[in-house]
Amino acid sequence: LKLLEERIREDGLVLSGDVLKVNQFLNHQIDPDLMYALGQEFVRLYKEESITKILTVESSGIAPAIMTGLIMHVPVVFAKKQKSATLDGGLYTAKVYSYTKKVENTISVDEKFLNANDNVLIIDDFLANGQAVNGLLDICELAKAQVIGVGIAIEKSFQTGAELIKKRGVRLESLARISSFEGEKVHFAGDAEN
Ligand code: 5GP
Repeated sequence: LKLLEERIREDGLVLSGDVLKVNQFLNHQIDPDLMYALGQEFVRLYKEESITKILTVESSGIAPAIMTGLIMHVPVVFAKKQKSATLDGGLYTAKVYSYTKKVENTISVDEKFLNANDNVLIIDDFLANGQAVNGLLDICELAKAQVIGVGIAIEKSFQTGAELIKKRGVRLESLARISSFEGEKVHFAGDAEN
């Protein structure tokens, strides 16, 4: 999606450890118009499918996920990272190692929000080594929900996540695919200079 690539070029900051900081529009301050455009693109890509639920993980996946759910008119469920008193029922849980925070989280979804009748579209902000999406796929498996596909805003294609998802036999659509960082410069898959 050109719009997203342009925004990354304009406002993205390349940090050490192959991390892209996008606090201007996605991870801290949020640009709702851009998020809506991401939602429209996910809807276009998955228009042949009958999706009943969007699944993401808090917190940065929620913005693109909710715009997609808004356009599709389906509920959006976000997996929680912390145990909370409001999560008192049966839970589906999965362990996820966080790429940016270098800690292992247990993510969980209340059993009542995901079941065998659901056709799920998983959405997240970034795809690095695929641990977050992998955990969400595990949760869908526990719930016996069908996964229609995965939608990612920004994929770092030089890391292992895309391969992992495809290996699990799941459709993956990423709206911006970064092939490499070169100093402060971001190269996208399909760029002429790559
Ligand atoms: P993965 O689980 O695929 O290794 O990493 C995905 C998660 O880590 C995303 O949900 C995102 O929160 C975070 N993440 C991974 N790489 C980056 C990055 O380059 N920039 C930012 N802002 N977050 C990232």
